[in-house]
Amino acid sequence: MVNLHTPTKPIFLTPELAIGACDVLLMAGPCSVESYVQTRAIAEAVYHHGGKILRGGAFKPRTSPHSFQGLGLEGLQILRDVADEFGLLVITEALGVEHVPLVAEYADIIQIGSRNMQHYPLLWAVGETEMPVLLKRGFMSTIAEWLAAAEHIASRGNEHIILCERGIRTFETATRNTLDTNAIALVKQTTHFPVVADPSHATGRVDLVLAAARAAVAAGADGLLVELHPNPAEALSDSDQSLPLEMLPQLVGQTKMIATALGRNLS
Ligand code: PEP
Ligand code: MN
Repeated sequence: MVNLHTPTKPIFLTPELAIGACDVLLMAGPCSVESYVQTRAIAEAVYHHGGKILRGGAFKPRTSPHSFQGLGLEGLQILRDVADEFGLLVITEALGVEHVPLVAEYADIIQIGSRNMQHYPLLWAVGETEMPVLLKRGFMSTIAEWLAAAEHIASRGNEHIILCERGIRTFETATRNTLDTNAIALVKQTTHFPVVADPSHATGRVDLVLAAARAAVAAGADGLLVELHPNPAEALSDSDQSLPLEMLPQLVGQTKMIATALGRNLS
């Protein structure tokens, strides 16, 4: 079979920083923004380890309505404040169409969550902005459905789309999801979109996050979206998969080695 490789088109997040170019970008932070103190401690660690992008949820898509739903606008303000203090960019989720203008005001990249991958009015709304959009793969979606969702965004004029493989639901119950490394390699090869992997939601287990992150970079990911917490046991969401800050040097060190082996950098 002929291997037709489509070159990745980098997306400039700032005039100096692009995703889909030589650097593999680390996007790290809490699952949920819980407080100023928590988020600042994480942002400081990300900054000190050379990271450029802070992730964090302000509007949370929780399976149960009884779980913590996020700080909303206050969460966005905290993210922006601490990111500005450390010169970081912000990625955060827009959960509904009504959040898009607000998230666009506070964030640098808009995240579309796995559960919303086929929420077409939301895809159209972010498609009408000029913001970079990170489109998570639906956990029960095929690659073709994922790419069709990306086309919905592009159909409204916004081609600044970053694909994110965050694990899919399989018959396996030992892990929260199954990281589809095939998908990372496939969409890298067949589309021009930069591709990010989320080893946190893909595994659901802190003891597997580093291995999944290494595998994702080896498969060609242009970035990693990773959950961190100063005290994972107390995290208000996704405590089982949040890396303690002490593990950040290992994450950076190990993935940097894989990136280097492929002629790339990690930042
Ligand atoms: C998240 O990244 O905070 C999140 C909710 O992820 P997903 O949409 O992949 O479940
Ligand atoms: Mn999470």
